[in-house]
Amino acid sequence: MNRYPELVIDKGKLADNIREVTARCRARGISVAGVVKGMNGLPELIRVYAESDVVMIGSSRIEQIRDAVEIGKADPELRKPTMMIRIPMLSEVPEIVEYCDYSLESEDAVLRALNDEVLRRAENEGCAIKKHKVILMVEMGDLREGYVGDDLISAALMVENDLDGLELAGVGMNVGCYGSILPTREKLDEFVKRAEEIEAAIGRRLDIISGGATSTLMRVLDGNIPERINHLRIGEGILLAHDLPLFYGCDMSFLHQDIFRLRMEVVELKLKPTYPQGTIGRDAFGHLPEYTDRGDRMRAICACGKVDYGSEEEITPLLTGVHVIGASSDHTLLDVEDIKVPLTIGDVLEFSINYASMVYVTSSRNIHITYK
Ligand SMILES: *Cc1c(COP(=O)(O)O)cnc(C)c1O
Repeated sequence: MNRYPELVIDKGKLADNIREVTARCRARGISVAGVVKGMNGLPELIRVYAESDVVMIGSSRIEQIRDAVEIGKADPELRKPTMMIRIPMLSEVPEIVEYCDYSLESEDAVLRALNDEVLRRAENEGCAIKKHKVILMVEMGDLREGYVGDDLISAALMVENDLDGLELAGVGMNVGCYGSILPTREKLDEFVKRAEEIEAAIGRRLDIISGGATSTLMRVLDGNIPERINHLRIGEGILLAHDLPLFYGCDMSFLHQDIFRLRMEVVELKLKPTYPQGTIGRDAFGHLPEYTDRGDRMRAICACGKVDYGSEEEITPLLTGVHVIGASSDHTLLDVEDIKVPLTIGDVLEFSINYASMVYVTSSRNIHITYK
């Protein structure tokens, strides 16, 4: 017997998407870090990345990176370099040094702490210094992480000249996360200029010029990406591939958009009024929802709710005629008046998920994950 709610994940389709994206990037001289935070670094899927041609595995969470490292220890063929993509906490510096080959950085204090940790380890263990590689983030206007103005050059010089435990591997930019700024050609050119300022200051070329995340994939696809950008960190564009076609009309038909399917079981089916009866107060979440009276309609309840996927706006029923009308913690309410074949109790309905619901359903112990 299957158990529900169920999340079905197609590993073959994930492998296909990774291959398609990395091939297109490689054609432009760009290597890809596979970012696994969107699906909570499920070890089964980390293995798919580890077998692919991404050059490294990235996450915002040390727990997921540790899993990637453990997978590589158990099977050396699955060993990929790891990258911490959320600027680290001072409190996790020892783990960053232990588990991450690369990290994105924007604070001198953290760089110094990382350096101290690397040197301390080499001394304790009486072995050669194993340098931790850092990518300095450049604030490009999106106003999340990144060095501002001349602080970038001084940080680069500090890492290059004064911090023996660190290697200045490159620079990175990130847009589209807080400020909804687009990676336009101009923005990317400006970023490359900042990278070249660093190169002039340190007198050598940087290994990695990391031009962003899925949104920069647009510039790879339209061929309008500066030559010097040689690295991207891709999460959503491989896992879901929903955003670029939806928001920017990109043709991503070469990718699967159905790697993840959420399946939930019908536990009630009744003809009910569409307008609540009684005095209306607040719902379970403190909101004052509005209801439209559409008369009596056939309604289904599925046993899966907001604690599983966050918000009912983040899931889409796949069966024609099924509409989500609301949800509580453990129930999803559906209007099923318009479906062709009547449902029965115990039927299972399928939904596609988006990024916000993916992070929930992959981390909930109520959800039974199966792979195919
Ligand atoms: C999340 C994240 C990414 C990946 O973003 P996607 O839009 O999912 O490709 C890349 N870089 C950083 C710094 C991130 O935080």
